[in-house]
Amino acid sequence: MSERRILAIPGPITFEPHVLRSLSIGHLSHMSSEFVRLFAEALEDLRKLLFVDNDYKVAVLAGSGTLAMEASVSNFIEKGDRVLVVSNGVFGDRFAELLYRYPVEVDVLKAGEPGEVVSSEKILNKVSEVDYDLVTVTHVDTSTGVRHPVEELGAFLKDKETLLVVDGVCSVAGEEIRMKDWGVDVVLTGSQKAIGVPPGLAILWLSPKAIKKLDKTKGSYAPYYMNLCKWLDIMGSYENLKPKYFATPAVNLIVGLHESLELIFKEGLENRFKRHKILAKSFREAMAEIGLKVMAKKEDIAASTVTAVYLPEKVQLSSFLKGMLERKVVVAGGLYPEIRDRYFRVGHMGPVNANDVIAIIAAIERTLYDLGFEIELGSGVRAAQEVLVKNSY
Ligand code: PMP
Repeated sequence: MSERRILAIPGPITFEPHVLRSLSIGHLSHMSSEFVRLFAEALEDLRKLLFVDNDYKVAVLAGSGTLAMEASVSNFIEKGDRVLVVSNGVFGDRFAELLYRYPVEVDVLKAGEPGEVVSSEKILNKVSEVDYDLVTVTHVDTSTGVRHPVEELGAFLKDKETLLVVDGVCSVAGEEIRMKDWGVDVVLTGSQKAIGVPPGLAILWLSPKAIKKLDKTKGSYAPYYMNLCKWLDIMGSYENLKPKYFATPAVNLIVGLHESLELIFKEGLENRFKRHKILAKSFREAMAEIGLKVMAKKEDIAASTVTAVYLPEKVQLSSFLKGMLERKVVVAGGLYPEIRDRYFRVGHMGPVNANDVIAIIAAIERTLYDLGFEIELGSGVRAAQEVLVKNSY
């Protein structure tokens, strides 16, 4: 059977052939001067990706996004600390779930309905009431396709002791994040989404405020492998072009990361964010034209990396996913527990282009048509094309 298909789930994404080829490098020691140079360059590029300078530190660990989430909070807590979790979906809730394992008091502010974000007013009231040590938020919640206005939250907390932790797993390199200007203290991501490297790297950025807190906590509640004091020492050493060992780095994935970052900067960050924005907009317009409802309740909180779409009442998720697969397009089912069978999710991030989006929309149209949904074939594609043309894309 042919291997050719469009992988349009919200991660792992379809990777650049350049990146995939770079992974096949063999005989590369983590202590070799070639690897040291590549790693040092990748760390420097990672800072540029979030618009921060050398006062900010970056760590790249072997692990998935969930490991990065756990490292992003466990390193900065002390017994009895108060943590506020702002949750706009499943990945927001995951922060609460993992924090319950630690000796901290956790409050959760949840979005009213899937597709909404917790209002800034509600958060502001809460953070003025309680002196939180840590606030967590998911920039793009992959379960609902909403983007939280992190800059508003950062503005409330900038002059406080509170650390703002942002889960950027579904946003870094696809959505703009100005870590310093926005007052964000910890950003975390995984490699398999918009940053464009196969699964296996957990990446964290720390602000000077976060580094200061880490000096105090010494990461004493972090699991042994995730202790960022150890990792910052290793990263600092690589940046000074001196290899140092704590635990074996994922050498090939870091080579892939170096390659992917080079491609990202060749495109240019502004161009990249714009491309994601336009493609996401064209996809949403197509869904509206077909008669499908996007989960994000408002345009200004609709993510550029992933879109969640409700299925028509009479269409079953399993039949829809099967129909899409027959047309060689892989999309994801729902994730939000109460409604997981009522919607599907499409990832459009990383090296995604207009042709991919058009093909995905066309496959959605034909699948729904064959499942008996009344639809004018080509109407969604036309709506998407109009957005592309309007934006000279
Ligand atoms: N946070 C967000 C926003 C995610 O989308 C995901 C993965 N879908 C995670 C965290 C967890 O990452 P991983 O599956 O790599 O552990």
